[in-house]
Amino acid sequence: MHDTRIIAVANQKGGVGKTTTAINLGAALAEQGQRVAIIDLDPQGNASTGLGVALEDRVLTSYDLLTGEQGLDETLRDTSIANLRLVPSNRDLASADFELSNRPGRTQLLRRKLTVPSELDYILIDCPPALGLLTVNAMVASDSVLVPLQAEFYALEGLSQLLMTVREVRQTANPDLRIEGVLLTMADNRNNLSQQVEADARNTLSGLVYRTVIPRNVRLSEAPSHAMPVLQYDPNSKGSHAYRELATEFLSRQFATA
Ligand code: ADP
Ligand code: MG
Repeated sequence: MHDTRIIAVANQKGGVGKTTTAINLGAALAEQGQRVAIIDLDPQGNASTGLGVALEDRVLTSYDLLTGEQGLDETLRDTSIANLRLVPSNRDLASADFELSNRPGRTQLLRRKLTVPSELDYILIDCPPALGLLTVNAMVASDSVLVPLQAEFYALEGLSQLLMTVREVRQTANPDLRIEGVLLTMADNRNNLSQQVEADARNTLSGLVYRTVIPRNVRLSEAPSHAMPVLQYDPNSKGSHAYRELATEFLSRQFATA
């Protein structure tokens, strides 16, 4: 059986680079020959939009994967990037938290669908900006959690809450859940605060923080409106280089821990 590694990209803060990281790390891994799927688990559907899947084309979504009979293969679709597939999302998912709140096994819904062998090397789950049932489902289904951290003042405060949720998931449904890594995003080299946050993060979290830092780069913020990863939109931008470097570091860590 092929071993697929499942990684939740999570942080309860919005706008810290979760979706940008899911899309562009996914695209960079795919570029390096890995077979990757992204599951868009945010009702806002930013990963789906960013990968060029129009709303009217989101027929089967992560909502169906979570709540319906459909398996992963039925909800996955190709994107314009070779080796990169997507389970899209739409507003249907917005009611899931409430709708599922009394369902037995409600935290295991995604896990049940992802334990089936698939022809994939990596599944990246793009989580919504909350620590509710959707993110918990992602963590229960995952091998590890990748945490994007925006290099700004309150970044580390939010992190302790996130790590508490990871501990809770470990104590209940998924004892093997690891922290994949902490990624500093939107860093500005000329900014003292940004440098201070980076230094603090490296002191507190030491080996968990990726050597690769994602700089603030306007091409990264433009790419979604062109419905493509930055690697396709502007392959030679700073953002593209950073996410390629992250993919290389990410893969070298996989082999180091294998
Ligand atoms: P989240 O998914 O955590 O809410 P996003 O990935 O959607 O965060 O990023 C929030 C906004 O910041 C988006 O408009 C995105 O295009 C932009 N953005 C993300 N990373 C960068 C970056 N490194 N440089 C510039 N803009 C970025
Ligand atoms: Mg997002």
